[in-house]
Amino acid sequence: MRVLGIGCHPDDLEIACSGTLRKYVEQGADVYMCHVANGDQGHVVIAPGPLAKLRAAEAEKAGAFIGAKQVFNIDVHDMQINRHDQAAINAIADVVRIARPDVIITHSDDDYMQDHVETSHLATNATFMSGLPHCAVNQPAFTSFIPTFFMDSLAGVNFNPTHYVDISDQIEYKLQALAMHESQVKWMLEHDDIDFVDMIRTCSRYRGYQCGVAYAEGFRPYNVYPRHSTKHLLP
Ligand SMILES: [Zn+2]
Repeated sequence: MRVLGIGCHPDDLEIACSGTLRKYVEQGADVYMCHVANGDQGHVVIAPGPLAKLRAAEAEKAGAFIGAKQVFNIDVHDMQINRHDQAAINAIADVVRIARPDVIITHSDDDYMQDHVETSHLATNATFMSGLPHCAVNQPAFTSFIPTFFMDSLAGVNFNPTHYVDISDQIEYKLQALAMHESQVKWMLEHDDIDFVDMIRTCSRYRGYQCGVAYAEGFRPYNVYPRHSTKHLLP
C-alpha cells in the first residue's frame, strides 16, 4: 500500500493525521508526506527566509521519525497558496506521480484558513492532472482517480468525521513528531498562549471517545465521482 499526505504548512500532517500515517508505516505501507507552504510567516521574531529553512528541516526530521519514505516541500510562501497556481499544481502532480498513492489524505475544503482551503483544492486539482499524459512533463502520468480523505480541522471545529482510525498505540509517536516542529510549538505558546501538544492530545482523545477507543483521528471521504473504492483504505 502507498499513501500520500498533502498538508499545507510543515506541521499540518503531524497535527491531523500523523497517528494514522505512523500506523500505515507499522503495517508496511510506503508513506509519503508533502507540505505545500513553506511556513515562512509562522513566527514573530524569526525572519521569513531563515524560518522557511528551519521549518523545512523540522518537517524532514518529523517525517523521518514517522517513517515516511520522502518529505516533499512545494515551497510556496505562506498566504500565497492559490488553487489556480499552475506551478504548484505541476509540482504536486509530480509528487503524486512519484508517490503513486493508493490513497491521499489532505485538508477539507472548508478548513479554518485560506491556505488550508487552497491546499485542499490544489491537492485535488493536481491529483486529477497527474493522470493527464500531455501534462506529464517530468514524470510519467499516473491515474487521476485516487481515493482521497479529508483530515480533521484544527481542534475539530466544524468537522464531523465519518471514518475513524484508532491511534491509541501511535499517540505518543504523534505527539513526539509534533514536538519536533519546535519553532511552531514555541510560537503557539508565546504568541497564542496555546499548549499545542496538549491541544492535539486532547483532540485525539476526544475523537477516541467518539468511537470507543483511547485515541483516534477522524476523516471524511472526498465524495466525488469516481474517487471511491471497494477497498478499505484507512488502517
Ligand atoms: Zn496550517
